[in-house]
Amino acid sequence: MDCIFCAIVAGAAPAAVVYEDDDTLAFMDINPVSQGHVLVVTKEHYRNLYDVDPDAAAAVMRTTVHVARAVRAALQPDGMNLFQSNERAAFQSVFHFHVHIIPRWIGDELRLPPRVQRVEFSVLRGIAARIREHLY
Ligand code: AMP
Ligand code: ZN
Repeated sequence: MDCIFCAIVAGAAPAAVVYEDDDTLAFMDINPVSQGHVLVVTKEHYRNLYDVDPDAAAAVMRTTVHVARAVRAALQPDGMNLFQSNERAAFQSVFHFHVHIIPRWIGDELRLPPRVQRVEFSVLRGIAARIREHLY
């Protein structure tokens, strides 16, 4: 089996499982960026957001809400990020659809790209219109 998350779902590779239902599995990230870093994956194999069945993605989000509240109750972080990566340019390294639950503490060392700049609504509306042309 060449997909590590499919192997975990099949029970063929080890994992510290947090939650399981018919459509999803949640387990601890093996290289946590903070204590309590959990991954929520589809049981079916999808590469990422571009091919995932929307219902399967919705099931992942339902499990994410459920598990995130338990992570909060167990570890009492100051905050939490959800993170979801698609393709290498966006840091995807395991090509099986998943969402990261990342507990955060004030003063922790995690950083997202920090430089942001206010953009005019005229520009934002132009981009919104380009995206809307592709909604179906
Ligand atoms: P991404 O960069 O969004 O594709 O995230 C993949 C994540 O999977 C990384 O945070 C890895 O640490 C994690 N990971 C890779 N292999 C395993 C594994 N066998 N068990 C648990 N987590 C894993
Ligand atoms: Zn897979």
